Amino acid sequence: MALRSAIVLGAGMVGVSVALHLQRRGYEVVLLDRQGPGEGASFGNGGLIQREAVYPHPFPRALAELRRIAGNRAIDVAYHPLALPGFVSPLLRYWWNSEPTRYLRAVLAYSRLIATCLDEHLALARGTEAMALLRPIGWMRLFNEPRLLEAALAQAETARRDYGVNFTALDSQALAEAEPHLLVGRLGAIHWTDPLSVSDPHALTVAYARMFAEAGGSLQRGDAATLQRAGAGWRVQGTAGPVEAAEVVVALGAASIEVTRRFGYAPPLFGKRGYHLHFGLRGNATLNRPVLDTESGFLLAPMRAGIRLTTGAEFARPDAPPSPVQLERAEPVARQLLPLAERVEDKPWMGVRPCTPDMLPVIGPLPGQQGAWCAFGHAHQGLTLGPTTGRLLAEMMLGEAPFVSPEPYRADRF
Ligand SMILES: Cc1cc2nc3c(=O)[nH]c(=O)nc-3n(C[C@H](O)[C@H](O)[C@H](O)COP(=O)(O)OP(=O)(O)OC[C@H]3O[C@@H](n4cnc5c(N)ncnc54)[C@H](O)[C@@H]3O)c2cc1C
Repeated sequence: MALRSAIVLGAGMVGVSVALHLQRRGYEVVLLDRQGPGEGASFGNGGLIQREAVYPHPFPRALAELRRIAGNRAIDVAYHPLALPGFVSPLLRYWWNSEPTRYLRAVLAYSRLIATCLDEHLALARGTEAMALLRPIGWMRLFNEPRLLEAALAQAETARRDYGVNFTALDSQALAEAEPHLLVGRLGAIHWTDPLSVSDPHALTVAYARMFAEAGGSLQRGDAATLQRAGAGWRVQGTAGPVEAAEVVVALGAASIEVTRRFGYAPPLFGKRGYHLHFGLRGNATLNRPVLDTESGFLLAPMRAGIRLTTGAEFARPDAPPSPVQLERAEPVARQLLPLAERVEDKPWMGVRPCTPDMLPVIGPLPGQQGAWCAFGHAHQGLTLGPTTGRLLAEMMLGEAPFVSPEPYRADRF
């Protein structure tokens, strides 16, 4: 066994980025997944590298908003009533952490990670084929309700002042000029100008995984649930045989707790499902950048495969079959907004965002387990924060001075 060796469990954007960073620091790394790289949540997301996302998604606290969600007819949030008992505890904690003072603490900690996301992606992608996937076009949030637009603009100004986020405010006419094929007018929009829009998130994860493999890293298939101690190190069963290393990193996204629980660590991780479908565009219509229609609560993003319609959050038991009701609700509204042609696929894609009740990821040592580390819980921004997490965790594992203080993300806060 090499002196510095690690098994990284999970080849999503987070695991692949951790593996790359460890490899570049001299580790011998095996990256293990039961599927190919980027086939979990990292496959089908909105593709935004969200430099603007300094405010993590809070639990709604306004009564009217809670009543709207409770009706279970919204496009942005849906739930399986029978699944709710399993969500009560994490959602109560989520609600508690969304109280304004506690939320501000989360924002401070989150914004420090978010501030690094573009640099850390570019540090991996520059000079490689991955660069072609990163489009510097930002994305737009559309508004039709004056009250919502006003509040969003005020928050955007604060984000610019406090966290260096850039944006342009568009009125109805400027929006129509920027996106001439929108079929209906909107009152205005915020164009976040910093974010990168990925034309194929799966391809980006695969491109990073290829860099890892080409530099001598080992990509293997296997079940992370077979993880066990092996002397002072760790062993997992790969399909090609057992794999051993001195250290192990759990980067299994929403499934991470299934492995950490066996080693005495059960953080209140919960999943928010999301779906996508692709559509063609009729005639010569185009969409220049991703747009999120705030009042309807879905994102339309131009991608390699077509216009990707992605949905908000669905709360369901992990083993429940997909129930893409939000896509069904969103599609007619999306068709009023853009001249969408036929669906590209028959069946929607589904992925699960790995969420924590304090809205912060878990990055650092797995409590009580020498040589085991956590890198999961990136919720709505795991594509954005993969490379940042990879660098931070690799620096911690090597005992280097971390480029961002890891304190707020430590596992033993739960
Ligand atoms: C609809 C939607 C839109 C989104 N939009 C954005 C966006 O625009 N920008 C953004 O930054 N984020 C977005 N996200 C969130 C983002 O996709 C996730 O946060 C991110 O993909 C999580 O990455 P991960 O590597 O932690 O997990 P994953 O990508 O889920 O990877 C986990 C891996 O673990 C593997 N695995 C699980 N269990 C086992 C096991 N027992 N054995 C072996 N392997 C196992 C899986 O196969 C998978 O490959 C969105 C998510 C959704 C659902």
